[in-house]
Amino acid sequence: MVGIVLVSHSRALALSVQELVRSMTGPTLKLAIAAGAGDDHKELGTDAVEIAEAILAVRGEEGVLVLMDMGSAILSSETALDLLEVPLRANIRFCAAPFVEGAVASGVTANLGASLDEVCAEALASLKQKQVALHSDQPAGETKSPQDEKSAAQPGEKIQLTVRNAHGLHARPAARLIAETRRFHSEITVRNLSNQRGPVSIRSLSSLATLEILQGNEIEVAASGDDASAALKQIAQMVESGLGDTLPSETNGAAPRRKAKASAPRKTNSGPMPVSSGIAFGPGHYFQTAKLEIPQHKASDIAEEIDRLQTAATRAQKGLEARREQMTATVGAANAEIYEAQILALQDPELIENAVRGIKTEQLNAAAAWNRANQQIVSRYETLQDPYLRERAADLEDVGRQVLELLVDKKSSTPALTERGILIAESLTPNQVSTLDRKQVLGVILLGGGPTAHSSILLRALGIPSVVQARAAFSGVDFNQPLTIALDGSTGSVWLNPAADFLAELQTRQAEEKTREEEELKHSALPSTTLDGHQVEIFANIGDVSDVEAALHSGAEGVGLLRTEFLFLERETAPTEEEQLQALLAIADKMQGKPLIVRTLDVGGDKELPYLERAVEENPFLGVRAIRLCLANEELFATQLRAILRAGHGRDLRIMFPMIATCTDLDRVTEFLEKVHRDLEQKNVPHLWPVKTGIMIEIPSAAIQAESMARQADFFSIGTNDLTQYTLAADRGNPDLTSYQDALHPAVLRLIEMVVNGARKHDRLVAVCGEAASDERAAAVFVGLGVQELSLTSAKIPHIKACLRKQSLSHLQKLAHSALHCHTAAEVRALTP
Ligand code: PEP
Ligand code: MG
Repeated sequence: MVGIVLVSHSRALALSVQELVRSMTGPTLKLAIAAGAGDDHKELGTDAVEIAEAILAVRGEEGVLVLMDMGSAILSSETALDLLEVPLRANIRFCAAPFVEGAVASGVTANLGASLDEVCAEALASLKQKQVALHSDQPAGETKSPQDEKSAAQPGEKIQLTVRNAHGLHARPAARLIAETRRFHSEITVRNLSNQRGPVSIRSLSSLATLEILQGNEIEVAASGDDASAALKQIAQMVESGLGDTLPSETNGAAPRRKAKASAPRKTNSGPMPVSSGIAFGPGHYFQTAKLEIPQHKASDIAEEIDRLQTAATRAQKGLEARREQMTATVGAANAEIYEAQILALQDPELIENAVRGIKTEQLNAAAAWNRANQQIVSRYETLQDPYLRERAADLEDVGRQVLELLVDKKSSTPALTERGILIAESLTPNQVSTLDRKQVLGVILLGGGPTAHSSILLRALGIPSVVQARAAFSGVDFNQPLTIALDGSTGSVWLNPAADFLAELQTRQAEEKTREEEELKHSALPSTTLDGHQVEIFANIGDVSDVEAALHSGAEGVGLLRTEFLFLERETAPTEEEQLQALLAIADKMQGKPLIVRTLDVGGDKELPYLERAVEENPFLGVRAIRLCLANEELFATQLRAILRAGHGRDLRIMFPMIATCTDLDRVTEFLEKVHRDLEQKNVPHLWPVKTGIMIEIPSAAIQAESMARQADFFSIGTNDLTQYTLAADRGNPDLTSYQDALHPAVLRLIEMVVNGARKHDRLVAVCGEAASDERAAAVFVGLGVQELSLTSAKIPHIKACLRKQSLSHLQKLAHSALHCHTAAEVRALTP
């Protein structure tokens, strides 16, 4: 790795720049400073001996880049070179780049393993971002680096992608993109189609930064060269999977997609929009968030002011972490991820740097500097075209406000109601939503807001009936006058001062809905037994330990699918056996003795592990995915199996293998598992053995050969998400193919019938664990076909149990028989009201 030496007259300056660089690179970068003069380096000046020592400290085969602040620093550095023995002077480059920007650019590039030439070029080009930001009348293309010039001229292949990362292509994902594309020889350029900036070379961090790629921006990646196609494929995969960032609101199964065309128009603010179902009514209470007065004065002590800002940011982060814990317990890990995004927003180096710069260069006080830096980012989001992206501005404002409150020592007003009723507000932040008293707040109406805003997601998760974008419904309304409000969160309807008889009707509907849900929940612990005494096992699909409680509360009789990907994704290195063991034990210990089916790692396809070297694939969903990937990475697989077998010791734990396509696959995993068992046995490590092993039926070949597979597997679990995609050759994440993605298609049902028949020959249990199991119509047909267990999302368990209890198996069998003879999924759906 190229070493970096920062030479400055001021020790304080060098230390700060060093800290800035380290915040981007972490501890791996070879970085040294030589700054200040005198015994304790407190005097302004430079010292040739110290510079020589710093060079030697970071010197390696790749060389050293020396950045100097000004004037005599250059002279001292040249003297330092003379002090070194001649052979040691090779590969030491003095660079005329700007000190701070150059340090960051060269540090990040060196940390990626770039050559001395590349590191130097990056440092020299590092002013571009600032020039573009401050002189935006000058197009970015006018400040192209030599690399940009060279690559922009090349013809070649192009793809368009949408960047979905919460903070766009900020430093971390950009650095990862550069690192991962380094191995391709093709010239690759990136252009931001959303703001018409670029093209610039993908090799340059600072050039990429000038594109200002924000969340939702469309980018065009062009490549020319012998490996252009492979490079573009790899880039598409990386961008779609978030380049190491957690993509916002990704659901369990669906993959983020390359955009084929402009997104469908969204409903605009022409009327109230539904966000959280349920009927609510009561007196309306208008709430207004108090305005925060931001003090503005000259900072008397710069260091102290920076310290205040950093302390406030750290405290705000701690607060967000605590809130995330609390909300995880209330609304589950997936919904609480909103806080993760806020934490990331708070850590955005650009935000912090801008605020610190304001304090340092303009002597702004911390609150004013922070407010300005935050508002700059907020307004960037507010001006975006896409309503979804615009809604993110509220989140950033929320984060900013939390830091400001700490700086000015004032708590934001929380929307508390003096009596039970409907809360009306302009908008609410996620934090305000999380503090709502659910006993008092019967429903929420936001005059602004948006259906996909994080506060809306939380309202939904908390089960508070809510509508947003209701301004028009309240035009001319005086909120100081008493007001009765009713709302239906399923349809987005809002009624002002409704007539008594209509209110009575709403009341009846609300009562019916509530009674049904309560009844279903009350009986959710009971088995799901049909009218003619046939019992269907109802299990839950879970993603990690935080889902277990909700699963058991909803009446799950076990976990039918633990997706273990949570242990492997979003990390730099593979989890150790011990880490996996502890995570699995945490789940198993909460299971109250109920069965836990652990599915082995299912990555590949749309889910990449950054720490696994993988060849680029033409069709990742048909490639080295799931069990294929595990069998090709024996140590990874053996480590997971050891952890699972150890966690299962003395417990009802079963193992399930995803994506089994052939009997050979099954033989290989069985053999592999036995070998892992023998190793553990030899080392006297307590573990579960024998262990029940099942396979997921997700590929038509496995369904067709179910009878053969049933000789080896103890149980089958049909993954209808994948089985439907592979049967109908329709990518499950492609929004243009939704009409093909119905598991009730007769072709899929025929395969399920084959699985049931094959399993029966060897007395094996058949479950369904795909999303379709939580659809009451599909569940009915599956049970009619002979499926004995359904594993589904916890929230739907009480309802599915209740639906099955109202049916007889003989009726469901007739229904399934008719379904098999239908021509289309729509016909199957029409069989039940
Ligand atoms: C399925 O394919 O139906 C399934 C449950 O697996 P996943 O959604 O995790 O691919
Ligand atoms: Mg699957």
